[in-house]
Amino acid sequence: MDDNQFREAATASIEEIIKYYATLGERPVVSTVEPGYLRKLLPDAAPEKGEAWDLIRSDVEDKIVPGITHWQSPNFFAFFPCPATYPSILGELYSATFAAAAFNWICSPAITELETVVLDWLAQLLGLPDEYLSTGPTFGGGVIHGTASEAVMTMMTAAADKYLRAALAADHPGFATLSEEDQEDLRAARRSKLVALGGGTAHSSAKKAAQVLGLRYRSVPAPAADGYRMTGASLRATLDKVRAAGLEPFFLGTTFGTTDTCAIDDFPSIVKVLDADRDAQVAAGRTAEAADIWVHVDGAYAGSALVAPEQRTSMCPSPSNPEDPSSAPVGTAVLRRFHSFNMNMHKWLLVNFDCSCAFVRDRSWLVNALGADAHYYRNDYSDGGLVTDYRDWQLPLGRRFRSLKMWFVMRTYGGEGLRTYIRRSISLGDRFADALKSRPDLFEIITGSRFALTVFRCAPLTADEPLDVTSARTRRVCELVNSGGKIWVTGTTLDGNVAAIRVMTGNFSTQAEHVDGASKIFVDVAEQVLKEEKT
Ligand code: PLP
Repeated sequence: MDDNQFREAATASIEEIIKYYATLGERPVVSTVEPGYLRKLLPDAAPEKGEAWDLIRSDVEDKIVPGITHWQSPNFFAFFPCPATYPSILGELYSATFAAAAFNWICSPAITELETVVLDWLAQLLGLPDEYLSTGPTFGGGVIHGTASEAVMTMMTAAADKYLRAALAADHPGFATLSEEDQEDLRAARRSKLVALGGGTAHSSAKKAAQVLGLRYRSVPAPAADGYRMTGASLRATLDKVRAAGLEPFFLGTTFGTTDTCAIDDFPSIVKVLDADRDAQVAAGRTAEAADIWVHVDGAYAGSALVAPEQRTSMCPSPSNPEDPSSAPVGTAVLRRFHSFNMNMHKWLLVNFDCSCAFVRDRSWLVNALGADAHYYRNDYSDGGLVTDYRDWQLPLGRRFRSLKMWFVMRTYGGEGLRTYIRRSISLGDRFADALKSRPDLFEIITGSRFALTVFRCAPLTADEPLDVTSARTRRVCELVNSGGKIWVTGTTLDGNVAAIRVMTGNFSTQAEHVDGASKIFVDVAEQVLKEEKT
């Protein structure tokens, strides 16, 4: 493809993209193709001779679009959003143009430096404590990963490394002078005692990270009675249990906005328990460093809400010890007591997938665990220690130029535009929940609307209706709503047996009329299901 052909192809493609967005509301949200549909439409092998762009382009509409579920549709109320915006798409275009595997600063200084700058901008927009800024007092900073799953795995890797360094240095005087192999042997033996903890409603990625790292993982129960969130009492019981079994907890995965219900772990009571646990360990003879459990806060979705200052107190509404207001600072300041935080701009802050932003209070924890040294990386800038080499902050080596799309989005919408969008999503959530609340004969709200997510089920018809009858009705309503094709929502099961429906109103294109349309569909379908039940 030469310059002129590219110009023509790109212009036509942009027109097509604009048309696609303009017609999204008219398309059925979910693809209806059968599994394997695409193999039947494509040749068995790549073409031997190159094909004209026009032919390739026409296949996008004819063969690919039918297999697309339209996440950008205003009628997409499922999972969490995954918004795309024009400035973000332009960021991807430029990023693809400057294609580089920019693992070192010198591989493209702008790629590294823009990332540092925009993550500091984001930390400020979210109201994170200064410790999470690259210029902050504890030498922290942020890094862009592809997904929250990578972020939690990276932080757990760093946490295990930090813990093992501290524990082995404390328990084996002269550890640092041992041969590399002897150090490895002691490290491997001690690793077998490590256990990562995570809230019972934390995302599955925390458990998966432990699995991949070959470490134990224990869930801290977060039942309905506790609002589906981890509490200090539940954490205390789990800590006691794992310590009684001779295990060493080194990592705690907490959540700001769980996947099912957007619950927020009870940080004031968690801090109180962690402080008491650390003090008890120190009193028993451990060093403060070896008694420090790394706390990661996963705000993959709801973290975006922090751009609106009025949402910040929800993270930690009160100090952990009311008599000592400095015990756990309220709001996002509680992150000072923790070690790392991540949120996905690609979930709710107008940057298209992938863009998961992970912040750490002390970047040396990452570099100590993940720093890779090989002669082929060497250059004067890295050796001089004056630059950031993000390869040492992440699992892969090469990296994409993702900061460009963040920069374009932040500059196009500004902090004000981002706050307006978040507040609109939240108020649309309230609008939807209010519509359901006006029909208590049909629906029962379980949680929300919280961060634009409403979780509900069909109302039991009598006070003693068996749970499985209500759950069957709820599942039937969910199925019929989705098969109607006009909107798409997610069904879930809470506490292992309560069928529920999740409706998220955070899509960029979603307006009040779409939310009203969705609540009307629910009312119509629920009435129809009740009629069916009576006949
Ligand atoms: N954490 C939470 C709270 C989530 O809800 C999700 C996905 O929905 C994830 C982590 C995983 O996100 P990712 O796809 O970026 O790995």
